[in-house]
Amino acid sequence: MSALRIDLGRFRENVRAVRARVAPADLMVVVKDDAYAHGVEAIADAAAAEGVRWLGAFDIATGVRAKAVTGDRARVFSWLTVDEGEIAEALEAGVELGVGDAGYLERVGRVAAARGETAVVHLKIDTGLHRNGVRVEAWPAFAARAAALEAENAVRVAGIWSHIAEASDEEDDAARALFDEAVAAARAAGLRPEVRHLAASAAAWHRVEFRCDLVRVGAFCYGIRSAEGPEIPGTAPSASLVSEVTAVHGDTVEAGVGSLDGLFSTLAGRMSVGTPAGARRLRAVRETTSTIDGWDGAAVGDEVVLFGAGDRGESTSTTIAEAIGTVGEEPLLRVSPLIPRVYV
Ligand SMILES: *Cc1c(COP(=O)(O)O)cnc(C)c1O
Repeated sequence: MSALRIDLGRFRENVRAVRARVAPADLMVVVKDDAYAHGVEAIADAAAAEGVRWLGAFDIATGVRAKAVTGDRARVFSWLTVDEGEIAEALEAGVELGVGDAGYLERVGRVAAARGETAVVHLKIDTGLHRNGVRVEAWPAFAARAAALEAENAVRVAGIWSHIAEASDEEDDAARALFDEAVAAARAAGLRPEVRHLAASAAAWHRVEFRCDLVRVGAFCYGIRSAEGPEIPGTAPSASLVSEVTAVHGDTVEAGVGSLDGLFSTLAGRMSVGTPAGARRLRAVRETTSTIDGWDGAAVGDEVVLFGAGDRGESTSTTIAEAIGTVGEEPLLRVSPLIPRVYV
C-alpha cells in the first residue's frame, strides 16, 4: 500500500519556525491545493492549534472547509473571483474575500446587501504580475467605490494586498513601492484596512521590508524550500510518499508506486529512494510500479520512501523539482488524490 504520510508535528514545527521568523508580522498559512496535498482539514486544525489566526485558500470550497474546521479560531481568506452563488456561500461560512476587480466588488456588494450582511473584503492592487488585481490607474476610483460601499455597510475593507513574482529583488522592490502608494491612496479615500499583505514564502522569510502586517506562507510551512534556494532553518518536509517492496529480483526491487500515483516517469535514474539500507537509485517508473536498486536482505513488504524529509536517504520534493526544472511543491501536488493521506 502506498500512502502520503503527513507528519503533523513536523508541520507544526515548521509553522513555529516561520512565525518566529516573521514576527511581529502575523502568519497566514496558505492551504490551497488541499493544503499542498496534505489535506485541508487536518492542516487547518493543526495550524489553529498552533495559534495561527489566518488561513488562506484560493477557491471558496477550500476556504469553507478550512472555516468549518477552525470556526472562530481563525480568519479565512479566499481570493479566487467567483460567481454570486459562491459569494453567498463564502458569506454564509464567514470567509473573507480577495477582490481585485471593479465588477467583482459590485457583485460582492450586491450579494451582501441582498442578504443584509457585510462582506469582509481585501482589495488587491496589481503591482506588476498582471494576473488579477486592480491596475494602478484605476485604483483611486476603485478605493473610492469601496469606501462608498463601506458607508452602506455592504462591505468592510479589512485588508489591502498584492502578490509579487519573487523572481528578482529589483522587480519586487518596484512592486512594493506601488503597493505602498496604493495603501496611501486607500487611506486617502477613507479606508482603514487592518492588514496589508504582500509576501509569500521567499519574500516573507528573506526580506523584512515585505512582511507588512501579515504574510501569506504556503511552501515553507510544509517544509518545501524554493527550487535552487537555500535550506530554511527549523523547517523540514512534512509529507513523504511511501510505498512497499512488492517483489525482489536479483539486484533490484519493485515497489508498488508508479506514474499513475503521481511519480514523474522522467525521474528514472535521477532521484534517490529511501530504503531500510539508505539511499538507492530509482531505475524505472511504470504506471503502477517502479524499479529501485536493491540492497542486502531486501524483502517483500519493506518500506521505501519516494520522497520526504531525507531521513532515509530519499530525495525531497524540492530536489526532485530541481532535477526536472520546476517548483518545489510540484512533485507533491502531483501525488494522486487516490493515494491515502495518513497522519502521524
Ligand atoms: C500560493 C500563494 C501564496 C503562497 O505561496 P508560497 O510560495 O507557497 O508561500 C501566497 N499568496 C498567493 C496569492 C498565492 O497564490
